[in-house]
Amino acid sequence: MSLEKVQELGDTVIVKYGGKKIALDPETNLDVDLIFVSHAHMDHLLRRPKRPIIASRETVEVAGVRGVRVDGFYESLDGISLIDSGHILGSRAIMFGDGDLLYTGDFAGRPRGFLKSLPPVHAKVLIMESTYGKAGYVFPPTGVVVEETMKLIAGAYDFGEGVSLHGYSLGKAQLLSYLFKSWRPLVINRRVYAINEVYRRHGVNLPTPDLVVDSQDEIKLKPFVYITHMSEHVEKAALNIRFTGWAKAVREQAMPLSDHADYNELIGFVKKVNPELVITVHGFKAELAAKLRSLGFNARPAGGYQKSLDEFQTY
Ligand SMILES: [Zn+2]
Repeated sequence: MSLEKVQELGDTVIVKYGGKKIALDPETNLDVDLIFVSHAHMDHLLRRPKRPIIASRETVEVAGVRGVRVDGFYESLDGISLIDSGHILGSRAIMFGDGDLLYTGDFAGRPRGFLKSLPPVHAKVLIMESTYGKAGYVFPPTGVVVEETMKLIAGAYDFGEGVSLHGYSLGKAQLLSYLFKSWRPLVINRRVYAINEVYRRHGVNLPTPDLVVDSQDEIKLKPFVYITHMSEHVEKAALNIRFTGWAKAVREQAMPLSDHADYNELIGFVKKVNPELVITVHGFKAELAAKLRSLGFNARPAGGYQKSLDEFQTY
């Protein structure tokens, strides 16, 4: 089994391996044999995948909750293995052969709560996400973010007030449920709760809430901690805190808690993997590739230079 070819269609990379064409997180259905779905965030998940997919069981199950039906899936194939990327439940990186090519999908650079980070296994070719691949996007230690948030909640409780904690309904909201489960009464939005239940089925110790609501209108008590999605503004809470790596760009109270590797972690990961070639996808891919080149790596953004396709024929 060997890596025969790497092709790019914009941000989508197609790998030909062992005679099969495999599209990595494609945004549309392509003429390939298999589709790799790194995780169940909607920007990585086709609504109607028309080929068998490679994904974790957890990803398939979360996709089902989000209305995406998958007919068949593989968790591993001959010469192909999946590695926990620590981004959300079920998120996986994919390794072709014994270090031929590693595609990270979205990945975490540090453990948080029940989530791990992606181990930097060696690969000749590394295709990596670059969401925060720009100088300045460096996050404080998770413990600092949790402690600051605990102080804010305690302050609100002193005045008998409620606090709402906002995160993406898949991934961040489950991490928030885990990190702040000791606060009571604990109220969870139903959209978040539906996904919490999948996490619980897979052994993640998420709390049983005191109340599950469709919206803040159903909260009749105070104080409270309410875990909800990003788009709800909770008038009843004295404080709305949004948790995102983009915290610097959010005007309201925001905490830099991310499920992605930060800028330093992206660069540290490449140093440890020590690949012969890095292709960056998704996010600040040009900026990250430029920085990596300045550090002596052979790096470029996906889809950047079509002519360089030939460069991969030898792999
Ligand atoms: Zn994601």
